[in-house]
Amino acid sequence: MRMSRRMENIPPYLFVEINRKIAEKRARGEEVFSFAIGDPDMPTPDNIVDKLCQAARDTDNHRYPETAGLPELRRAIANWYQKRFNVSLNPETEVLPLIGSKEGIGHMALCFIDPEDVALVPDPGYPVYAMGTILAGGKPHYLPLLSKNKFLPDLDAIPAEVLEKAKLLWLNYPNNPTGAVASPDFFKRVVQFAKKHDLAVCHDGPYSEVCYDEYQPTSFMEVDGAKEVGVEFHSFSKSYNMTGWRIGMVVGNAEMIDALKRVKSNLDSGIPQAIQQAAIEALTGPQDAIKKHNAVYQRRRDLIVDLLNDLGLEAKPPKAGLYVWAKVPDGYTSLDFTNDLLDKVGVAVIPGTGYGSSGEGYVRLSLTVPDAMLVKALSRLAGWQNARNRFTARK
Ligand SMILES: *Cc1c(COP(=O)(O)O)cnc(C)c1O
Repeated sequence: MRMSRRMENIPPYLFVEINRKIAEKRARGEEVFSFAIGDPDMPTPDNIVDKLCQAARDTDNHRYPETAGLPELRRAIANWYQKRFNVSLNPETEVLPLIGSKEGIGHMALCFIDPEDVALVPDPGYPVYAMGTILAGGKPHYLPLLSKNKFLPDLDAIPAEVLEKAKLLWLNYPNNPTGAVASPDFFKRVVQFAKKHDLAVCHDGPYSEVCYDEYQPTSFMEVDGAKEVGVEFHSFSKSYNMTGWRIGMVVGNAEMIDALKRVKSNLDSGIPQAIQQAAIEALTGPQDAIKKHNAVYQRRRDLIVDLLNDLGLEAKPPKAGLYVWAKVPDGYTSLDFTNDLLDKVGVAVIPGTGYGSSGEGYVRLSLTVPDAMLVKALSRLAGWQNARNRFTARK
């Protein structure tokens, strides 16, 4: 067998390695508490699951779906954007449902990137932006997200020769993993910058509904001119706890959406229709579950952030998203600290460097630890300093 050179550049997906270590410990009978994975722990709301069960019995849904998605779903997405963000979208040309937003994010690179082309990718960032680029034969150019810039990329720092080759600009706010949010002013600057340098913008916004303290995240689509330069990826996964059903969407620039639809129509055969109908229920049914879930996350956020600061890990409470981005104590790298936590107190977090080299010095903790486990997980975490002191004393 001779596999492609492309395969040599594909590392295993980030969580594979961490899950392997956790599984090993558990196999030895050790208890492990994981703050590692960003997958909502609470179930999909009942009204959505009921709709899905009912739709599964409808024989019309047993056949191939259309790549473009059900017209009713595209309309429901457009209406939701109108209601939520006051953004008008044409459901025929400016909305495309996806098999989860990860799928669309990965495939978008095929629409823009030829060998040697560049995509501008946030660092730290969701790994798919860079991997999609690499699989298409292109090169990611990483934009450091630094605390001193409020974890926004410094667009003016991108070298001119990079900008010449760059075709795509990836952004993600509310941000995974840093928990940062972006203002409308930042998005306005992005639109100007994209026009000036002929960049297509892909904003990834799956956390727009996961927010705290009355804060309401902005959609990239809200700013003037956004639709001329870009699209926004969104998802049912985090808003409605639907990660397992695999459904998301992309909205905005019609040319970009048409290109992605052409790629997808040659690779996949759409989203199971029963799941599309469940997604319509999610958008058009009662929305109270969102508030309820956010209240749970907010309480966990405060417990986690307080404890981290007590332990000397600087962390700010995020205004949105599912993650706390915490500074590791002096004298540790992200990876050292991650291993130390796992080995000494059986607590799993993600090293910041798993999301890119600018994540060095940080770890990510997810707010999706079930309440029943959180108290114990926190008390384990609280024991880290004692465990460390005991360990140092013995040495
Ligand atoms: C969770 C997540 C997604 C993926 O969402 P799916 O719709 O489940 O594929 C995309 N982007 C970011 C930044 C995420 O954290």
